[in-house]
Amino acid sequence: MSKPVLRRVMESSAAKPQETPRVLVVEDEPDIAALIAYQLTREGFRVETAATGTEALTAVGREVPDLVVLDRMLPGVSGDEVLKTLKSESATRGVPVLVLTARREQEDRIEGLELGADDYLTKPFSPRELVLRVHSILRRARDTGTPTGGRILRAGPLRVDLAAHQVTLDGDEVTLTPTEFRLLVALLERKGRTQSRRQLLEKAWDVRSEISDRLQTRTVDMHVRRLRSKLGEVGDWVETVRGFGYRFRTPEDRS
Ligand code: CA
Repeated sequence: MSKPVLRRVMESSAAKPQETPRVLVVEDEPDIAALIAYQLTREGFRVETAATGTEALTAVGREVPDLVVLDRMLPGVSGDEVLKTLKSESATRGVPVLVLTARREQEDRIEGLELGADDYLTKPFSPRELVLRVHSILRRARDTGTPTGGRILRAGPLRVDLAAHQVTLDGDEVTLTPTEFRLLVALLERKGRTQSRRQLLEKAWDVRSEISDRLQTRTVDMHVRRLRSKLGEVGDWVETVRGFGYRFRTPEDRS
């Protein structure tokens, strides 16, 4: 019993210190907030709670969390406003957000995705499901953000550093949201091959089948548009394949 413990201690001191992930829970209903905080604390997370949007932004200003669980319906500053603010600030843009929504309408879900939420849970949800989602979002954030063998994807002037999470065009940094980054990586990893919107959604958003075709189309198309506009001339290499999806093709791939 002592050996694995010792090994773990040695590994953790040798490797980059792995801090306990900090989760900010933004929820105005005290019972739900307490339940979420209890579940996440039990999983080993460090949890802070905020009951309003203003409190949430103050908490984030104090210490940037590793993940935010955000209720949409808050008194005063709404969850969507908090999300928008988080995604517009460079310090918090990369923080994954799991949105809680009481509304079942798909339109609402998509609005949140367009604002940059990483995942959704519709109330009422099981605490177990919440914990699973939090783990999966953090795992994904780690996978795109840390050692993948320093892998670099290139296409013409475009360079994507998967480890550093950095995109440059002719050496100039391009600022992408985490979703746009994952979308670009999904396209580049299968360069020259067409991928459906559903495939791209699954890779870049981890969204599953409950979303209608029309809404899938809207979400993916909007992010592709934004991505293209940020990539300048390289944006033209993200091609629309009518009636199917998208593919990334360089001029050389085309000839
Ligand atoms: Ca609420």
